[in-house]
Amino acid sequence: MIEKNEYPKHKVCGEYISNEVLGYLQSLNFDPFALGAKDIKKLTLSTRKSRSISTNLPLGGFSISRFCIDAALKKKAEEYGALVLQANVLDVKFEDDIFTVKTSTKEVYNAPLVIGGFGKRSTLDVKMNRAFIKKSSPYLGIKAHYKGNFPNDAVGLHNFKGGYCGVSKVENDHINICYLVDYKTFKGYKSITEFEKNVVYKNKFLKEVLSNSTMVFDKPLTISQVSFSSKKPIENHILMCGDAAGMIHPLAGNGMGMAIRSAQMASNLILDYSCGKLKSRKELELAYTKAWTKEFGIRLKAGHIISRLFRLGLISEFIMLILQLFPFILPSIIKKTHGKPLEVESLI
Ligand SMILES: Cc1cc2nc3c(=O)[nH]c(=O)nc-3n(C[C@H](O)[C@H](O)[C@H](O)COP(=O)(O)OP(=O)(O)OC[C@H]3O[C@@H](n4cnc5c(N)ncnc54)[C@H](O)[C@@H]3O)c2cc1C
Repeated sequence: MIEKNEYPKHKVCGEYISNEVLGYLQSLNFDPFALGAKDIKKLTLSTRKSRSISTNLPLGGFSISRFCIDAALKKKAEEYGALVLQANVLDVKFEDDIFTVKTSTKEVYNAPLVIGGFGKRSTLDVKMNRAFIKKSSPYLGIKAHYKGNFPNDAVGLHNFKGGYCGVSKVENDHINICYLVDYKTFKGYKSITEFEKNVVYKNKFLKEVLSNSTMVFDKPLTISQVSFSSKKPIENHILMCGDAAGMIHPLAGNGMGMAIRSAQMASNLILDYSCGKLKSRKELELAYTKAWTKEFGIRLKAGHIISRLFRLGLISEFIMLILQLFPFILPSIIKKTHGKPLEVESLI
């Protein structure tokens, strides 16, 4: 595994992981609850005008900081024999049935297979001239941890003009507050504080939690150029996993679940390829594309539609009225953006 950053490291993310992948992680002897993850069972969803609905999550999930889980997963991979190198991958070429991987440390590696798990937007996407990179990336992500009061077992998804914000507690009892906003809305304000006071605070749930909590970061973390344009699960013969294969809108709260699930799918098929069950690279690539599309095609679309509807002010208020009248609809909508919990045989 080649990773450019050092662990542990904070990352802009809502830090809620769907239980869809809990069984798989546990089958790898990785227990997020042993690290203090919060068991999330409830959701409160609100519109810009603070109309809200609360429900039990059909599958539930857990909340843990990326600072904690990313470093622990890296350690677990090393325990199972992975070699983790710290370097920036500059280029990946495929020629004569072999990959050549060049890194910033001037090393060159050859490998029969390469898995691309480099996230939503990387210099590698530019290098490979991937189609999505030319499209606009109009979103900005902002996140910080806070000290304050918030239930241990709930996640809040609260909309405001131009974006939405996720709120949940993580392993050390800090509250993670993370939002996604479009540039068009954000650029009218001089600072994050001014934006929050004038826009985010219009949602009473966000005003309540932000104004009664104290930030523990020196300043919020930000990322730019977030895009949800479609991508391909195989590019240049690389098996793309996670956001590198396609990014679901974070309002659906399932990007990490999809990243972990796609990695599991890729590794199972690679095992089939190495024992001859899949007879050629072409068969492996077809099998992965088929499995990926079957697993994620519909939920990516559902995630985009839901997030689009919640961006439309009046329509989202109307949808919320319907949800309040017929609350049983919400769990079925959530199910559309999530997969089924994995049936796990012991993999190790
Ligand atoms: C605002 C926001 C909120 C979100 N909230 C949630 C949430 O609550 N729940 C959820 O499940 N998902 C959420 N997501 C989505 C989630 O963060 C991603 O889906 C998930 O991180 C994808 O995992 P990944 O491994 O594909 O990519 P990443 O986690 O981004 O990992 C990619 C890694 O590749 C490394 N890398 C990139 N390029 C190179 C290179 N050239 N060389 C070496 N290393 C490289 C990066 O340093 C990075 O560590 C959110 C996203 C955003 C933007």
